Amino acid sequence: MIIHTKDSTSGQRVEEITKALKAISFEQEGSHVVVTSSSLKEVPSQYADDIEDYWVMDTDIQLASNKYRGERREVRLGKLKIGGATSNTMVIAGPCSVESEEQIEQSASFMNSLDVHGFRGGAFKPRTSPYSFQGMGVDGLKLLGKMREKYGFVIFSEVRDATHVDDVIEHADVIQIGAKSMYDHGILRACAKTTKPVMIKRGFGTTLQEFVQAAEFILSGGNPNVILCERGIRTFETKTRFTLDLCGVAWLKENTNLPIILDPSHALGYRYGISDLSKACMAMGIDGLLIEVHPNPAVAKSDASQQLHHEQFEQLLRELEPVANAVNRNLV
Ligand code: PEP
Ligand code: MN
Repeated sequence: MIIHTKDSTSGQRVEEITKALKAISFEQEGSHVVVTSSSLKEVPSQYADDIEDYWVMDTDIQLASNKYRGERREVRLGKLKIGGATSNTMVIAGPCSVESEEQIEQSASFMNSLDVHGFRGGAFKPRTSPYSFQGMGVDGLKLLGKMREKYGFVIFSEVRDATHVDDVIEHADVIQIGAKSMYDHGILRACAKTTKPVMIKRGFGTTLQEFVQAAEFILSGGNPNVILCERGIRTFETKTRFTLDLCGVAWLKENTNLPIILDPSHALGYRYGISDLSKACMAMGIDGLLIEVHPNPAVAKSDASQQLHHEQFEQLLRELEPVANAVNRNLV
């Protein structure tokens, strides 16, 4: 159950209620929100006078549920907004990893020339093998910060553990929680303590319920700026790297209030179909599209097979425009 207490209810009383109901509470726009387990179906009568409004919930997808908020949340990403009353679909592009100043400058100046505002690059890479490139760490983040300064990008970069959160907050605009990290409660709790936007990627073996409940950890800590990212799940199929779950996206749109970004690059794992998939994603009426692009994919230190060449990405953007128009989305 989600409870909004009255303005007249004191902070101390909110604490008492929170403790008695074994709940979590936080402040939102100056008032208090108390969230109990969804198994609580009735307001205990002794608190009735303290309560402004309440929502009885079916499952522990609560703050993220559209039963709580019918409209999609608006999230401000640097100078841009997604969700809310906007029809914005933000294009976020850039290499898988920040590899060197030269590579990131080449990529950034190209994206700037195409008027792309969302720029991505991993500095802390959660790799499958300990012997693969692990990322440039803080030096990589500083390079992204430099590109932000130079071109005014909205920077997305991932954390690999909770100790990276402060550095990503300093040098980037959106904290990315990767598919392999989304169960890390140290990360989730650290991201709950800030109001910096967080993009949480769905684990490849994660149900939609588990995915959104991970987002609940951040929301219930008082950070309202959470975005979901579908990036493919593991199925019996091995010809493609993962399977992009567009049915899942339809479910998320229907049942949650969080902006949704789609990442066809990690789902497919190969360059050849990214353009088609991007158009399919766009047709779903989503809030953002994340695409990996590298100045020279053949020498990329991670995800080489799926990163687009610059010309391919330019062509993709051209083809995306009419699809965006057809579904009344505004590419930003
Ligand atoms: C990435 O965005 O480069 C990445 C590692 O993605 P994922 O966590 O979805 O595998
Ligand atoms: Mn990648």
